[in-house]
Amino acid sequence: MALRGSTYAASFRHRNFVSARPEHRSFLNQTGQEDLHGFYQQINQDSFDGKLPDVRVNWGDLTAADAYGITHFDRGTPYLMELDRETVRSESFALDVIRHESCHIATNHEAKQRNEDPHGPTFTACMARIQNRADND
Ligand SMILES: [Zn+2]
Repeated sequence: MALRGSTYAASFRHRNFVSARPEHRSFLNQTGQEDLHGFYQQINQDSFDGKLPDVRVNWGDLTAADAYGITHFDRGTPYLMELDRETVRSESFALDVIRHESCHIATNHEAKQRNEDPHGPTFTACMARIQNRADND
């Protein structure tokens, strides 16, 4: 998950958390769950050659989890990604959170097998790989 207090979160905060409240409202109003799912499909195509399983992507209230995004797995199979509607306030940040969660989907199995932290070396390598791809486009 993309924890608010993590290094990941902190690195995005200054860039994405200055949006004014009216803009936040209009982003939420304009961005339905089918749009979030479209972002995921785009990232799956662009960064993973369409190899990730399809999952639903919903707006949710992740205040209790203190997270921007969470991906739910059932016995290792991802079935739902949630983005926090209070703190994910722009399309660019939504895309960043979905990229992060997508790397969890891509590396969950391998990280578990290697007994790594979910944000350990396998996950970090995934993030670096898709970031490089985006930079080379
Ligand atoms: Zn995470």
